[in-house]
Order: sequence, then structure tokens, then C-alpha cells
Amino acid sequence: MLRAADSAVALTGAGISVPSGIPDFRTPGEGLWEKVDPMEVATIQAFSSDPKRFWDFYRPRFATLGSKEPNPAHDALVELEQRELLSAVITQNIDRLHRKAGTERLIEVHGSIATSSCIGCGATWGLDEVEALFGDQGVATCTECLGAVKPDVVLFGELLPVEAMDDARELSAQADLMLCIGSSLEVHPVAGLPELTLARGGRLAILSKGPTPYDDDADVRMNGDVVDDLGAVLAALG
Ligand code: ZN
Repeated sequence: MLRAADSAVALTGAGISVPSGIPDFRTPGEGLWEKVDPMEVATIQAFSSDPKRFWDFYRPRFATLGSKEPNPAHDALVELEQRELLSAVITQNIDRLHRKAGTERLIEVHGSIATSSCIGCGATWGLDEVEALFGDQGVATCTECLGAVKPDVVLFGELLPVEAMDDARELSAQADLMLCIGSSLEVHPVAGLPELTLARGGRLAILSKGPTPYDDDADVRMNGDVVDDLGAVLAALG
């Protein structure tokens, strides 16, 4: 299917980063978010009304994610792109591991922890620079205007970036093959992207543990270890 496709895209979710030591928060008992309700803390409302509480949750998360490295599943998608068998990667992940692995055409529809920005003046800092912005209050503050600094990720209660979603929709609507990897395909609006590929007559290959709403529509359904499965795909391509 990859060889035959004119335009294949990958849509990835938390499952592709699990082998990098980033647990899927949907996995019971393992998630980073096990002890707090992210719907309460990782929201734009919490960021605005109680930034200390927001950062108490997010600051250690930053430190944890910052040390993670891409795994062979991320690398497999880089190789497919380099061999011109894959046009782009659309990801729900904020861990910036696709970028770190070397994917060129990457759409991060939920943003990325790679940068944080001042909501006042727009000044931006890299992941390694944010820690220095914390004062005694436990809140990251802009060195220029003293405005609040926010990770450039989409928080609960925020809309997805328009430009990234437009790109994602266009790629999905043009693709004649979509590889859905490590995503339960349940979080909208991203969950609607495979529908766009199907609607234009494209095919789906789903590599993910656990059921998805598109299982009956998929030409290929793999539910093993994502590293093993993508390794098998590369091996089959030769
Ligand atoms: Zn500022």
C-alpha cells in the first residue's frame, strides 16, 4: 500500500511515544496525569486564574518530557519520508519527538513543548530556557514585560491552531493512504481526519493498541508493539 500510494500521511498519537518512556495518560495506573485531573489543571482557565497551580502541575512535566528521546517508531517514519513513501506526519503529541527524530514535514496540531511564549509581548523561549523564568512565586514570567509565559501547547479549553488544522485537513483530504499510529482516534477534531481520507477514496492502515472508531474501515489493522509493527513494515519494503 505504501509503494502504491501517491500521497501517504501518518497520523500519530500518544502510543508512538510510549516506547520513549512517555506513558499514555489513558493507560490506567501509568499516566502522568494519574494523580490530578488534567481537565482541572491543564486548562486555559487554570492558567489564567491560578497560574501557580497550573505550573505546579506543568513544570515537572516539562522537566520529564524534556529528557525523552525518539524511539525506532519515530525513526521509521523519518525513513519512510526520506524514501519518499510518506508525505507528512500529523501528530497529536506535544513531546516534539517527531521533530527531534528528523521528520521534515510535521504538523503538530496540539502545539509543542519546544517553546513557551509571553502572552503579553509574544517573546519566546526554548524548552531549556523556561526554567530560568520562574521566580519565588512558582510562575514563569516574561523578562521583558513581566507578562505570563505559557507553553506553546494547546490547553484544554483552547481551540486548535487554525493554520495547523487547515494543513492537517488538506493533507488528509489529498491522501490516498493514511497510517494511523498509536492513536485511539477519539479526540476531535483530529479524530475526523481519517474520515477525509476515506471520503476521497483513500485507504486506512491502523497500527494501534485498543479499538478505534475506524477499525471496520481499515484495510490493515495491526495492534502489536508499535516499534515491532513499523519495523516489520520497513523490513517488508526491503
Ligand atoms: Zn512579555
